[in-house]
Parts: sequence; C-alpha cells; structure tokens
Amino acid sequence: MSLSFGSWRRRRRRLLAIAATVSSLLAAYLFLLRPDLRWQAATPAAGGPRQVTAQASRTPATPTRVDPARATPSPGHAPVGAPLGPLPKRLPPSPPLLSMGRPFIGPDLGQKASPNYLYGSTGGGEYILHHGLDFSNPLGSRIAAVADGEVVFTGEDRSGPPFGPPKGRFPEGFYGRLVVLRHQPEDAGATPLYSLYAHVNRVLVRRRQRVREGQGIAEVGMAGIALGPHLHLEIRDALQDYGRTYNPYLFLKPLPGEGLIIGRVSDPAGRALAKVPVNLFRLAEGGAPDWWTATTTYPAEPVRPYPGIDENFVFADLPAGRYRVVAQTGGGPLQTDLEVGDGEATALLLQRQLP
Ligand SMILES: [Zn+2]
Repeated sequence: MSLSFGSWRRRRRRLLAIAATVSSLLAAYLFLLRPDLRWQAATPAAGGPRQVTAQASRTPATPTRVDPARATPSPGHAPVGAPLGPLPKRLPPSPPLLSMGRPFIGPDLGQKASPNYLYGSTGGGEYILHHGLDFSNPLGSRIAAVADGEVVFTGEDRSGPPFGPPKGRFPEGFYGRLVVLRHQPEDAGATPLYSLYAHVNRVLVRRRQRVREGQGIAEVGMAGIALGPHLHLEIRDALQDYGRTYNPYLFLKPLPGEGLIIGRVSDPAGRALAKVPVNLFRLAEGGAPDWWTATTTYPAEPVRPYPGIDENFVFADLPAGRYRVVAQTGGGPLQTDLEVGDGEATALLLQRQLP
C-alpha cells in the first residue's frame, strides 16, 4: 500500500515537473517569438501555489528581512514565475531605457541609490510614497547630468510651479532647490523625458543652457524635506506633474559587472498586484539563499509602470549571478530563481494561478 502510494507521489511530482517545464518553454517561446503578447502571454500554465504554508502565513506583511529558509520551495510547490530572458530584446528602441549615466561620477562618490527607499515604495512604511531614487553623498558633492539635455528649471520649488505634492502639504517647499533637464528623444515627435535633481545646495547651470551627460549641474544639499544630504533623482514625462514619474532605474545604465531585475507581480487575470512585499536573495555556490534586499510592488497610483514594460518592482545594482525572488502575495509566496547578467536587465513575471 505504502509502496503504491509512494510511486503515485513520484508520478505526481514527475507530472508537475513536466508541466512546469512545458509552461516555461511555452513562456520562452511566447516571449521570444510573440513580443506583441507581452507579459500576459508568459503566464505559466501550471504549478501554482494552491496551498498556503504555515511559514508563508507567518511572513510579515512589510518588506523586512525574512529568514532565507522561508524562501525554500515547500515540497509539492512548483516555482511559479519564469524568467522571461534578457530584457533588451523585448524593449522598444533601447534609448532612453538603460541608456542614461549615473548622477554621480568618480570613485569617491556613491553611485547607487538607497536600497531601503526604492521607487514606488514607502521604505517599509517609514516615509511617503517615493517618486524617485535617493543617492546619499556628502554635502557639496558634484551632481552630474544623467543625459544630454537642456536646463528647463532651476530654483526653489516654492517659488515656481509645483513639482512635488500639492502645495498645501509642504508650504515651505518639498524639493527645496532643484534643477530640471529636458531630454528630447532622437525621434523629434516622441515625448521628451525630464530628469529632476532635488534638495540641491547650489545650482551650477542656468535656464536654457545645453548640458552634456556627466556635466556638473548642481551640488548635493538637504534643502526642502530632507533628513540629510542626498540627491533625489526623478525621471518624468511632464515637467510640472508629480504624478507623471517613472522608475529611474529603468533608464540608468547598469554599473560594470552588474545588472537588474525588472519584475511584475500579478493576479491570475494579469492585473498588477499592489503593495506586495518582494524579497530578493542571492544564491551562493551550492544554492544557499542569502537575503539581499526587499521592496514592495507599486501601489495602484500615483506612481506608474513604464508603458510596454508594465513592471511593478525593480531590483537594480545587482552583481551578476543567480538570485531568488519571493513575492509574499496574500494567497502565499510566489517565487523563482533567475540569472542576472552583466550589463543586462532580466524581466520576470510572477503571476498567481487560479485556485
Ligand atoms: Zn527621494
């Protein structure tokens, strides 16, 4: 009796493994050959986490550090997500995506954004929803233009148009002193992008001046609502609209030896799931997971996914290697392992299955 039960279990496991492989191959086929179908098409056909494990239900709802053991797939749970492959293949013409420089240059300056307060997150509930990325560097550090462009604004945000949240909330100004550049795409008919540099101490350029990528445009400060000296960098497609931002990491070139994960957590119908904690583990030799960082998926608004990508989280500045992504959705964890390549963006879809 136990023997036949065991062989049934083995056969079921084998069938599940085959189904997962077939769905991964299907996703890869759809991704490579049917870019028009985009995220929705890459839905794995089988292997959804239908049971909620006791471990998953104890996982905190905030993106705090979690025990790596909790990220180990439970027996009988097939990983759901399938890495969709190197992202540049499926993006519209690369610039402006992954084509801008860092806002700081040189070995002595931090070139990575704070991982604790990523775009579209609240820093674990500590702060207001983040519309950009924060780069901490000492007061007076030179801020560089992320791309060639034209200076379209310099000055205090309280004296000019409302760049930040509605004026009533921060009467003394939200961004303090800022510089905004306009970047016109090569296709003259395309919508320009704006890069916004906030909380600066000193402005080094004047309005209507043309600047080159890497050129010094301002110095780090803590003007406006800032707890310490840092640059708040935003990318948006409307000059004076706080609700028209995108995740800056979609536009910044990866640093040498590093890459990024651009991901989407969705429900069975393909709709984005908001405010889902997502943890990232680095997989060492032998597969042992080592917690790396965490974020939450974007809320429904006012931050936005980039059209055609429809991401709702990004992990960037990742040394090339293997990683595990675990999304703690209400119905249980969704997870997958994937490879991050040097200089590449890897797209990932984690989609809940119907019960
Ligand atoms: Zn900020």
